[in-house]
Amino acid sequence: MANDPLVRLDGITKRFGDTVALDNLTLDIAQGEFVTFLGPSGCGKSTTLRILGGFEQPSEGRVLLRGEDVTRRPPEKRNVNMVFQDYALFPHMTVRQNIGFGLELKGMGKSEIRARQDEIMAFLELEAFGDRYPAQLSGGQRQRVALSRALAPDPALLLLDEPLGALDAKLRAQVQQELKSIQRRTNKTFFFVTHDQEEALTMSDRIVVMSNGRVEQDGTPEELYFHPASRFVAEFIGETNLLNGELRGTDGDAVVMDWFGQTLRGHAPAGVPPKGAPITASVRLEKLDFHKERPATANAVQGRVVGKTFLGSRMAVDLTVEDAQGAHLKAYVDAETGQSVGDAPV
Ligand code: ATP
Repeated sequence: MANDPLVRLDGITKRFGDTVALDNLTLDIAQGEFVTFLGPSGCGKSTTLRILGGFEQPSEGRVLLRGEDVTRRPPEKRNVNMVFQDYALFPHMTVRQNIGFGLELKGMGKSEIRARQDEIMAFLELEAFGDRYPAQLSGGQRQRVALSRALAPDPALLLLDEPLGALDAKLRAQVQQELKSIQRRTNKTFFFVTHDQEEALTMSDRIVVMSNGRVEQDGTPEELYFHPASRFVAEFIGETNLLNGELRGTDGDAVVMDWFGQTLRGHAPAGVPPKGAPITASVRLEKLDFHKERPATANAVQGRVVGKTFLGSRMAVDLTVEDAQGAHLKAYVDAETGQSVGDAPV
């Protein structure tokens, strides 16, 4: 129905013997979203993808596509397609034949297939490679063929299982941009699975962070990065300093905590614990500023630089905080000037 999300996972649990791969997962995906499932190995990413694709049946719960229950429907009857990590291209077929394969299965006529092959090859800039075999293509080109083949039958939902895993770092960054741009231009719904947090941040409209078969956090890349809902998310997404202290209380939208006798104020997570409870602050490395004189404000501590590592685009600085029993912090500053935004060089 018109108001139904494109996809609804409704209370999905999946057990393999004693292993609970997914634990009561409920999730809506809107038409045109680029949703990334992110999490460490074994958290249930591939299982979710396989259930969406119809390759696996949930132990409990339902899969709805535009409001229709497709839980027991086989993959070929779902209007869902998949791009695999190893591309799974047919080696004995040319690029054109690979792209045409799903169209023939759909029962399309010859001239219609030819027109669609031409259209999709033009769209993904593969016209020059139509007669080549997969072995005669580069990794990036193969990836584009796999994507073309999956998009050709015009699926409502495209599932991508770590599709960039086989590419080297430089090509991977380029293909990430390409993939995102293709998704925008087609306005297709992409369900992307990765364990690479940088890739997730770069490409997604929305990231679902999974851990042990459960959703840890579901939000935009910015929300997850700047306001992680849990320690797990703070550590998993980007680099951070974790400061363990004690909760003093709240002040409007802020929480106030004690860190070795120092006062820290920060953004409050949902469900603030009671006063006196142990609490962990997450401070991003690029958020630390340096001053010659200690400012008389909260979140200001005195420390010493004990190490610097040149990283090209930035410099990592190791600090010992004398005010906090020698606690260790790490910061990023400008590699050339040694400055954080608007502050003293270190
Ligand atoms: P990875 O990043 O390593 O691919 P993942 O997040 O995709 O991991 P899943 O493959 O979904 O994780 O697996 C989730 C859990 O279910 C794991 O503990 C895994 O061992 C288990 N599991 C997955 N498939 C099976 C299976 N066919 N039989 C038994 N256990 C399985």
